[in-house]
Amino acid sequence: MNEAIREVLDEAGLPPLPEPLAYPIVDCHTHLDTVQDVAGIEPAISLAAAREVGVTRIAQIGCDVEGSEFAEELARTHHNVIAAVAIHPNDAVHLGRAKIADTLKRIDELASTGDHVRAIGETGIDHFGTTDAAGHALQREVFAAHIAMAHAHGLTLAIHMRDARNGGEGDGPTSGRQAHDDVVDILNAEGWPDRVIMHCYSGDAELARVCLDHGAYLSFSGTITFNSAGPQRQALAIAPDDRILVETDAPFLTPAPRRGKRNGPYLLPYTARFVAQQRGWDEVRACQQFTDNAFAAYGGAW
Ligand SMILES: [Zn+2]
Repeated sequence: MNEAIREVLDEAGLPPLPEPLAYPIVDCHTHLDTVQDVAGIEPAISLAAAREVGVTRIAQIGCDVEGSEFAEELARTHHNVIAAVAIHPNDAVHLGRAKIADTLKRIDELASTGDHVRAIGETGIDHFGTTDAAGHALQREVFAAHIAMAHAHGLTLAIHMRDARNGGEGDGPTSGRQAHDDVVDILNAEGWPDRVIMHCYSGDAELARVCLDHGAYLSFSGTITFNSAGPQRQALAIAPDDRILVETDAPFLTPAPRRGKRNGPYLLPYTARFVAQQRGWDEVRACQQFTDNAFAAYGGAW
């Protein structure tokens, strides 16, 4: 198995398998459908490669109706996968106002299919991919509708936020905090669900404090390993042990030292080990904490 996986990764131009972790962990945010689209790796291979290195469970995240249906089905047919369903803020803008109501209805249906669908996400505000005021207004409405859905179904809310000046795949935090401010304002207005995950946390310690005070989890991606991630590391430093998650956001945000290549859940050990080292945790203790936190953030073990 291991040899076959190595060959597939090699042929696809992807990095080799890292050293396996000492204890199993969860990839808290990934897109296996997009990994297949951009790197040609089938979801079954992505899952098998991840398992080889100790990433035994994943949260598959939807960004549109097709992706949310894919996530629901993958989670229904794989005991080690849970699904999140939503319309990504940029996808909402591409879709246009006329189609939003029907689309949200379909997401709401998917959200109530069973315990394998654990979250509404990814949803939020994106000022990088969408720059016009009408688009931002639509994003705010769609985000509010997703928050209401999380409340109605008792599900976790998985949040995407990206600022206008946040260039190149979340490459470091920015001075403009408009998307972050919007996200906090809308959550304050609509009410923070019991479980909120700040996916690919890209803010500083000040914003982290606001999120943590509302019970949110900070999910760190490969960007935490970049040299530009000083503010994110300060946020990591102030987070309580039980609010820290790790994720790949594959196929994006590949951690150092594999930055520049496509990402997969099997590369999560780099980020996990980096976060563990920042916290002064040994590997087993870190992985146990990450797994406990993932189960708590998504409303129970799977
Ligand atoms: Zn994502």
